[in-house]
Amino acid sequence: MSAHPGWVLGAWEGAAGADAAALLASLTGVSLEAAAAVDVGSRDGALIEALRDLRGGVVRTVLSCVGCGETLQVPVDLGALPVSPWRAPGAWFSVEVSGRPVVFRLPTSADLQALHGSVADARRALLSLCAPDLAAPVAGSAASAATRAAEAPDPAAATAETATAEGVKAMVDTAMAEGVAADGAKAAAEGATAEGAEASADAEVADAVERAMEAVAESSALTVVARCGECGAHTEAVIDVAVLLWAELRVAALRLLEDVHVLAAAYGWTEPEIFALSPARRAAYLELIG
Ligand SMILES: [Zn+2]
Repeated sequence: MSAHPGWVLGAWEGAAGADAAALLASLTGVSLEAAAAVDVGSRDGALIEALRDLRGGVVRTVLSCVGCGETLQVPVDLGALPVSPWRAPGAWFSVEVSGRPVVFRLPTSADLQALHGSVADARRALLSLCAPDLAAPVAGSAASAATRAAEAPDPAAATAETATAEGVKAMVDTAMAEGVAADGAKAAAEGATAEGAEASADAEVADAVERAMEAVAESSALTVVARCGECGAHTEAVIDVAVLLWAELRVAALRLLEDVHVLAAAYGWTEPEIFALSPARRAAYLELIG
């Protein structure tokens, strides 16, 4: 572990749980509200970097087999996870759909917390939050027109046509996984039928915006696919970086506190004095105490 003990304990103490926005706030020192306004891709990128600082290597994520319900332990190589570049909160992007520009922003933790109901409901709500023009398709409001003028079109939007909507689906899945939607399981079944019913021009525009979001966010790869040894079914799931980080942070923090407890009891040193020791010296003293 290369992370500084003070950093580990501060992050553990500040976050106090596996909430992604709370972890980001704790890691960066910004308010919870500011952290919740960071887009999900940037947020997860920062959490992955913290996880790498904390332990690196391979961590295990736990899935439930879609075929038989068996618990699957899936290794996740932290070094191989794609890290989304950090984007300033509130950035707007633009994509051209059927000759008209549609502005959008990327989903944030606050957006995901506001979602509820079925997957289809969540998807619609997320789009109306992130692409307000879609909710009022006739003409852009003064505010959105001003936003459009203020923002240069993002080059990533040009690649939207080749991207898939998986990223936004993943974001909705993340919201479900975070327990925002109580009826997530039922909703997953509804999702497929809702998809077929949305064969309208609006749905086309929505799809295009989702693809553009995906192209900008580059977050679709934060998924794992595992084959069940019992029934052979393949389970695909979104990696919950916050859960992984919190688990490692908690283990690391409790280990540090134990070190402090043992060294303080033996030598009468204070916590800052103990953390001023290099990890090698700390380990050597702990060994002497036995
Ligand atoms: Zn299975």
